[in-house]
Amino acid sequence: MQYRSTRGKMKESLNSAQAVIKGLAPDGGLYVPVNFTQVKLPLTKLSQMTYQEIAEMVLGWFFDDFTHDQLYKVVNDAYGSQWDQQQIAPLSVAHDGNYYLELFHGPTLAFKDIALQVLPRLMTQAIKNEHNDHQIVILTATSGDTGTASMRGFSDLSGTQVIVFYPHGGVSPVQLKQMLGQRGTNLSAIAIEGNFDDAQTAVKNIFNDLSFNQRLLDNHYQFSSANSMNIGRLIPQIVYYFSAYGQLVHRQAIKPGDPVNFTVPTGNFGDILAGYYAKKLGLPIHKLICASNENNVLTDFFTSGQYNRKRPFHLTNAPAMDILVSSNLERLLFDVANENESTIQVLMQQLSEDGSYSVSSDIKAKLDQTFAAGFATQDEVRSEIKRIYTDDGYLIDPHTAVASYVAHQYRQKQHDSTPNVIVSTASPYKFPETAIYALNDQKTAVTGIPAIKELQSIIDQPLDSNVQTLLKMTAREERVINPSSMEKTIAKILGI
Ligand SMILES: *Cc1c(COP(=O)(O)O)cnc(C)c1O
Repeated sequence: MQYRSTRGKMKESLNSAQAVIKGLAPDGGLYVPVNFTQVKLPLTKLSQMTYQEIAEMVLGWFFDDFTHDQLYKVVNDAYGSQWDQQQIAPLSVAHDGNYYLELFHGPTLAFKDIALQVLPRLMTQAIKNEHNDHQIVILTATSGDTGTASMRGFSDLSGTQVIVFYPHGGVSPVQLKQMLGQRGTNLSAIAIEGNFDDAQTAVKNIFNDLSFNQRLLDNHYQFSSANSMNIGRLIPQIVYYFSAYGQLVHRQAIKPGDPVNFTVPTGNFGDILAGYYAKKLGLPIHKLICASNENNVLTDFFTSGQYNRKRPFHLTNAPAMDILVSSNLERLLFDVANENESTIQVLMQQLSEDGSYSVSSDIKAKLDQTFAAGFATQDEVRSEIKRIYTDDGYLIDPHTAVASYVAHQYRQKQHDSTPNVIVSTASPYKFPETAIYALNDQKTAVTGIPAIKELQSIIDQPLDSNVQTLLKMTAREERVINPSSMEKTIAKILGI
């Protein structure tokens, strides 16, 4: 399997180890797999396979320059006892006709662990396979969850340095505590004055700053990314779509071959894009329903065909989705534009110069075949948390509530009775303030860990072991810088 840039020529393609190490293409595009639909999909066997077996199968398709033994080790180390559910990504019982795919049983309580337990192991192996003797500097912009999960995944991994930038005041108290509580000699987390888009844009600019990159190389360092722009993070996310399908067959909720919908709480478009790739590989997905919060640029895009980021940025109660520039959409566009890099170059240039672009009616029609979209306001998020808890005694986090609300709306409007899986991206204990506000109809005076304890006293159920670990964590002081001094800060950390 070869990888090429969405903005570059086919002849500049790389193998997967090289694409994982690079993270981002030097032309500003994203690496995408070439010709990946020729797989043998064992739909009838899925229901008997463990999560690890499905992961080995999917990773084997995309990372075929790694040996079977190497992938076996990566997968089994990544999905081991650090998960508090043996199934890794269990499907809940049905609530209101929907299944919730719980992706938050990893060490940092959000779905980012699914991929960020794999990526560091894959990257260390890639470095060996490629005989690369550079120190890899993982540079990451985070809206909260990626930062913690990358720090946790790369902690004390030799040959790597992790530098995380997050928006000051733009992450939840628990996320902040988790980030500042990670321990490891190779980890730094720094707040920047600005929002997530500012952080992500600045990080992309640093990736594309040739002279700064040269300075790193001269000192035996090399940048890579742990954002979902890295193919090594995206591909492991395909696995849970297959796993969810297998679980539905196992429960006899569907027969092999029956269509399923997935509703995905979306920010940077990595999670839902993995679903799109699963569909391309032959998984019978009918609709992918893209759920947004008040930063509903994607709802408008899927409705009108125009992407327009010129709008107010809202800090919401689903902060991991507070994004106006969804990077991975570029990969979807590349696919529906028949892999034409010139189309992507034009659209992305319009986005950076004018803040908007419109796709052709041809592309729009292709998107309509697979995608539906909707959004939930902060009030709707709270009422959805309360509705599901009151009706079913099942507590969901605000991001999952966005998807749950949108799925409910979709079902009512479209009369589509296809079984629906809601991708549940975080533990409710990661955002306890919002859960309490939703359940009690009034705000709590406490935040962070005390709020987790208050929430537990309301729910009165035992905490998962990874939530209990969080209660014992101690955090360092926060450090805030201006985005303009990010390069200086990186140089200082690396001592160059
Ligand atoms: C990252 C994240 C999302 C958004 O996922 P994308 O892949 O960026 O679309 C949704 N919910 C939670 C809890 C997250 O951490």
